[in-house]
Amino acid sequence: MRNRIYLDNAATTPLAPEVLQEMMPYLTECFGNPSGVYATGREARRALEAARERTAKAIGAEKQEIYFTSGGSESDNWAVFGAAAAGRGRHIITSAIEHHAVLRPCRQLEKQGYEVTFLPVDGTGRVDPADVERAVRADTALISIMTANNEIGTLQPVAEIGAIARERGIPFHTDAVQALGAVPLDMRTMPVDLLSISAHKFHGPRGIGALYIRRGIRIEPLIRGGAQERGLRAGTENLPGAVGLGKAAEEAVRDLESRTERIRALRDLLIDGIREALPEARLNGDPVNRLPGNVHFSFPGADGEALLLRMDLAGIACSGGSACTSGSTEISHVLTALGQDPESARGGLRMTLGDRTTEAEIRETLRTLIPLVRELRGTFR
Ligand SMILES: *Cc1c(COP(=O)(O)O)cnc(C)c1O
Repeated sequence: MRNRIYLDNAATTPLAPEVLQEMMPYLTECFGNPSGVYATGREARRALEAARERTAKAIGAEKQEIYFTSGGSESDNWAVFGAAAAGRGRHIITSAIEHHAVLRPCRQLEKQGYEVTFLPVDGTGRVDPADVERAVRADTALISIMTANNEIGTLQPVAEIGAIARERGIPFHTDAVQALGAVPLDMRTMPVDLLSISAHKFHGPRGIGALYIRRGIRIEPLIRGGAQERGLRAGTENLPGAVGLGKAAEEAVRDLESRTERIRALRDLLIDGIREALPEARLNGDPVNRLPGNVHFSFPGADGEALLLRMDLAGIACSGGSACTSGSTEISHVLTALGQDPESARGGLRMTLGDRTTEAEIRETLRTLIPLVRELRGTFR
């Protein structure tokens, strides 16, 4: 059984038919290993390098600066561990609201003797560049601050933070997994040294992503054992995945302005509709510096989990403010970092819109959600 309305595009997006079409030959007849010296291998190599070129173009990078990985999580892990191992120092700066693929590697490094500064955020989820400036030390090996948050959609001042990093000669990594296809990314003008992307967040296939590594920036490999990806990421290349990533990235940045404008208008329709009907509802995240497709509300007094289940029963897929991990409800580290008490952090609801979201779906979502919140009000403490 499927949901009629899909509002969880921050979790994953459907594979676009035109992306699948480009991948098809590499899932079937063109199966060669790009390392092979025979014709089929050479054909595979050409396709891999064309995909690298397309991916690079989408973010204003050079082809040689794109390294294929298994996705956003690997790219984040690689940036953190790889920069730490490159030996510049024993200190890392990040924020309290990063994706776990950045936070957990940082915690791991702490166990290995590194010191990590987890910067706080303000009530809207923004990192203050002045805090970054103050946290910098002579032995800072990496600054890692995400471009856009996956839960509350807040956009960070990455240009300012990157400028601070550059001035001090510290590598700057940004997790842009939510940002590609939502906000412009241009490595020619952005002071970013390492950038993570993942294809399945913009209508590409799962299990493929990339780490952009600016020319001249040195990081250690995470996966060793082969000469692939210029000796920095071992493993037989995921050729169909790479082809899919290249095509999806190209499509994601095409008509970026008009595409995101449409989504932004639908987002505001949903936000305004909720605010009008439910004055107690609190919009989480930054109202202005926000991903075009992100809507995240807390409904005081309403049990977020019950709300999520009832939305699902009504055919609408969205996501909660807390993640259910092995049976126990874990309160979001992002909402906690905003200064919310655990009680209201449990009442969060995230609805993320995408290219396929329609106005009719948003109106139906409002018609479903509003009476549900009214009904559930008072069910939680
Ligand atoms: C989804 C996501 C990831 C993880 O990407 P995968 O390709 O699923 O491993 C990392 N960071 C952010 C911000 C994400 O939204």
